[in-house]
Amino acid sequence: MLVSKTIRAELYGLTRFKRKLLEDLQAEWDRAQALERDYRTLREQTRLPSYYCRALAWKAGDRRKAPILIDKDSFKLTDTGNRFARFFVSVSTPGGRIWCPLRMWRSHEELLSSGRVEISDSQLVHRNGRFFLHLTVKRRVKPMRPSGVLAVDLGERFLAASVALQKEANITSPKLYGKEARGIRRHYAWLRKRLGERKLLRVIKRIGRTERRRIDDLCHKISRAIVSEAKERNSVIVIGDLKGIRKRAKGRRFRRIVHSMPHHRLSRYIEYKALWEGIPVVHAGEAYTSRTCHRCGNEGRRVSQGFFKCPSCGLEYNADLNGAINIGERFLGHWLRDGAVGLSALEGDSEPPSTEIGLRG
Ligand SMILES: [Zn+2]
Repeated sequence: MLVSKTIRAELYGLTRFKRKLLEDLQAEWDRAQALERDYRTLREQTRLPSYYCRALAWKAGDRRKAPILIDKDSFKLTDTGNRFARFFVSVSTPGGRIWCPLRMWRSHEELLSSGRVEISDSQLVHRNGRFFLHLTVKRRVKPMRPSGVLAVDLGERFLAASVALQKEANITSPKLYGKEARGIRRHYAWLRKRLGERKLLRVIKRIGRTERRRIDDLCHKISRAIVSEAKERNSVIVIGDLKGIRKRAKGRRFRRIVHSMPHHRLSRYIEYKALWEGIPVVHAGEAYTSRTCHRCGNEGRRVSQGFFKCPSCGLEYNADLNGAINIGERFLGHWLRDGAVGLSALEGDSEPPSTEIGLRG
């Protein structure tokens, strides 16, 4: 199975001269979009080097505004082994070829230098006065033949709760993630309100970005932990459907916090990181999973402090973990009965490993 991901690197430490050339390239590229997308026309009417004209002519049918495409043959990515800047990219501009140092995550540097990935194509992106290289890298992974289930429930008190289930139905290693998310959201909601009263719109925008970045970092951290646990345990990841969260939330203030919680992002990151490792991800309908007692199967309810209480068997349990166990067991039940339910999408090269199955009552 061929999987891909995007690595974002910044072209940094640019001198005024290099910056000018890159801006020039961007301006010419933007201008070229409005022209007839024919190689000869582009060559005659723009100062773009031939590669870009060819790239635009290839995409003649696509009239959307395209980012600058950089073919792997038109730039050189050089690993210097230097700690200051390990990778340099050579970009062809209307004013000549320039070398720019690249700044990226350390883990991405390691991935690029490992030789385990192949760069398939890349784009030059100009945003807020900075230049980025978006590299698409590919690698071949063996699809997992899972022997267990890592069930994930996305909740309101904790962003995620996970439990590991094996076919013998042992529940192990319950984990709760992202308790701080609600605090972050609440803090910034309060801050925004205070600032709103004083009409400090610029500051509001800025703290909005800070908040998004903090939540984003948290989602990356949690998804990394979940995917690496699934890898360690050779387990399929089953995520409870997000729809239930809204119904469970009560009270206006609470509901607003829940609605804006980053579950969709977290869910996407888990899928994305799992795909890279060849781990299947299944979305399961979570109807009743939060109201069902995982021990006796009867109906219970969420009481205070995130606790679930079962009137039938007297179980008192963390409500988020109870939900995760139900999601996992329901999936496990289908799996044992029907074989590799929902995992067939893993067989092909083109199919994504994520698949929707409805596990209802
Ligand atoms: Zn019970």
